[in-house]
Amino acid sequence: MTKIIMYTKDACPFCDRAKALLKAKGAAFTEINISNDDHVRAEMIERSGRKSVPQIFIDDQHIGGFDDIAALEADGKLDPLLGTDENRALPRTGHKLVVIGSGPAGYSAAIYAARAGLEPALISGLEVGGQLTTTTDVENWPGGAEGLQGPDLVGQMHDHAERTGAVLLNDIIVSADLSKRPFALIGNKGIYVADSVIIATGATARFLGLPSETAFKGRGVSACATCDGFFFKDRKVVVVGGGNTALEEALYLSNIVSHVTIVHRRDRFRAEQILKDRINTQTKAGKMDVIWNHEVSEVLGDTGAVSQLRLQDIKSGEQNTINTDAMFVAIGHDPNTRLFSEFLETSGGYLVTEGGRSGRATQTSVPGVFAAGDVADPIYRQAVTSAASGAMAALDAERFLQGGVD
Ligand code: FAD
Ligand code: NAP
Repeated sequence: MTKIIMYTKDACPFCDRAKALLKAKGAAFTEINISNDDHVRAEMIERSGRKSVPQIFIDDQHIGGFDDIAALEADGKLDPLLGTDENRALPRTGHKLVVIGSGPAGYSAAIYAARAGLEPALISGLEVGGQLTTTTDVENWPGGAEGLQGPDLVGQMHDHAERTGAVLLNDIIVSADLSKRPFALIGNKGIYVADSVIIATGATARFLGLPSETAFKGRGVSACATCDGFFFKDRKVVVVGGGNTALEEALYLSNIVSHVTIVHRRDRFRAEQILKDRINTQTKAGKMDVIWNHEVSEVLGDTGAVSQLRLQDIKSGEQNTINTDAMFVAIGHDPNTRLFSEFLETSGGYLVTEGGRSGRATQTSVPGVFAAGDVADPIYRQAVTSAASGAMAALDAERFLQGGVD
C-alpha cells in the first residue's frame, strides 16, 4: 500500500486543500501536525528543505506542498503515484441544478436553490470554503460587527447550506461539456448531469512569475501569511502588492515578525482607507515601512532560503537589493474559468454575464449556465457581493427551470 505522510499545522488552508484532494482520491494518509512540536517541525524542514506547510511525502519521495500536488493532479500524474485507478468507472447522477464552488457565492446559491426546491448538488472543489479560508478577521460582513474569522464565516455558510437540504459533495470538476443540455460535469469521483449549472469557482492567487520566485517557493516565498508566517517569527519579511490582501497580510504578519516591508509598484495603495490608516500607524511605530514605485525583479538566497530581493525602481530603472527572510506575494487573483472558456464567453478571463435588468443577470452566454461571485466579477470581488450574486444566480436558475426565461 502507498505510504503517504503529510506535515500540517493548525489554521492552514492549504493543508486543508491538500487533505481534501487526497480524500477525494480515496487515498489514506498519515497527518503529522507541527503546530506545537518543535521536534517534528525541525524534522519536516530537514526532510523537505522547506519552511512552508503542507509538505507531502509519497513512499518517502518528497512531493512538496499543495501547489505541487495540485500540479501533479492537473497533469494526470497523481493517480499513478498514489496507486489510485484513474480509469475506474465513475458513478453518474442526474440533477436539476449543480453549483460548482464552495465560497460565499456557491453556498449562497445552494441555500437559495434548496429553499426553492431545486435539490441542488454543490461540488466543493479543492478550496473548501474558498478564499475566505485564507484570511483571519472579516470586518465588513453585515451583521459581523463583533468580528468574524474567515474560516468560521464560511463554515457557518456550509452548515446553513447543509441544513437547507443542499447536497454537499467533496469533489473537483476536472472537465465539462456545456455544449448541450443536459450539461455534463466530470469530477474525480463522479459524473454530474445537470439541467442547469451555477459556476462559482472564484479566483486563485497570482504569483509574479519570476523563475527565482518559483525556485524559492516554500523556502521563503509564500502566498499565505496565515499558513507560513509562523516560520518567520521575529524575522524580517516583505509583502508585495498594494491591495486589500497585501495590507491585511502585512498587518497580520506585523504581529509575528520583527519588521514588515511592503513593496508596491505604484505610489499609492488601492486598499480601503481603514487598512491604509492601520499601515500608517504601524509605519510610525517603526514596525513597517513601504517601498513605493518598485517591483521585485529577482529573489536571492544561497542556502536554500531567501536572504535578499532585487528591486527595480519603476521610474528610473535603477536596481538595488534589500535583506529579507521571506517574500509574501499578494498581487491579486485570476478567475478560475479554464474549464469553461471553450463554451462560455469571457472577458479579461472573467465569465461574461447578462447583467443589468435582463431578468437573468447572472446568465452566461449559454442559457441554463449561470455565474456568480469573483469568477464573473472583475470589479467588486467581495464576500458580500459574491454571496449576493450567488442568490441571484439561484433565482435566475429557478426561473429558467420553470421555463420563465429562455
Ligand atoms: P471563492 O471564495 O474563490 O471560492 C471558489 C470556490 O470554487 C472554492 O470553493 C473552490 O474550491 C471552488 N472551485 C474552483 N475550481 C473548482 C473546480 N474545478 N471544481 C469544483 N470547485 C472548484 N472579502 C470581503 O468581503 N471581506 C474580507 O475581509 C475579505 N478578505 C479577504 C482576504 C483575503 C486574503 C482574500 C484572498 C480575499 C478576501 N476577500 C474579502 C475577498 C473574498 O474572499 C472573495 O471576494 C470571495 O471569497 C469570493 O467568493 P466566491 O464564492 O466567488 O469564490
Ligand atoms: P487587487 O485589489 O487586484 O490588488 C492587487 C495588488 O497587487 C494591486 O496593488 C496591484 O498593483 C498589485 N499587483 C498586481 N499585479 C502585480 C505585479 N505583477 N507586480 C506587482 N504588483 C502587482 O487584489 P487583492 O488585494 O488580492 O484583492 C482582491 C479582491 O478581494 C478585491 O476586490 C479586494 O477588495 C477583495 N478583498 C477584500 C478585503 C476586505 O474587504 N477586507 C480583503 C482582501 C481582499 P496596482 O495597484 O498598481 O494595480
